[in-house]
Amino acid sequence: MKCPLCGCEKAHKHGKTSKGGQRYLCPHCKKTFTDTFDTIYYRRHLNTDEVHSILQSHTEGSSLRGISRITQRAYGTVVSLVRAASQKAQIVHNAKVQKIKTKEVIGNEMWSFVEKNKKPVSQKN
Ligand SMILES: [Zn+2]
Repeated sequence: MKCPLCGCEKAHKHGKTSKGGQRYLCPHCKKTFTDTFDTIYYRRHLNTDEVHSILQSHTEGSSLRGISRITQRAYGTVVSLVRAASQKAQIVHNAKVQKIKTKEVIGNEMWSFVEKNKKPVSQKN
């Protein structure tokens, strides 16, 4: 097992987490980590099905509050997951999509409103 923190190849099994997942120990940096380290599932109370369901609903255009209501998860949880997935996707995109020679580019973007609504500034006549 490769240590995601220092890159050492000799990380080995080191007991289980309180949730029953496999824990690993790196003999080089002495840090422990789990299989989900560096993923959007890391240290979340959501299971994989819930994560998939939330992200699927978001992709299909459901509102964040709507997803929160239907999945019975806190609004902040939904926003945090969507942001984590977005950041992860950006990292993958930046790493993998390079030096593409093309004449035309069509960009399809997924827009999401995750900011707090501000009251419109009233105009004085
Ligand atoms: Zn290490």
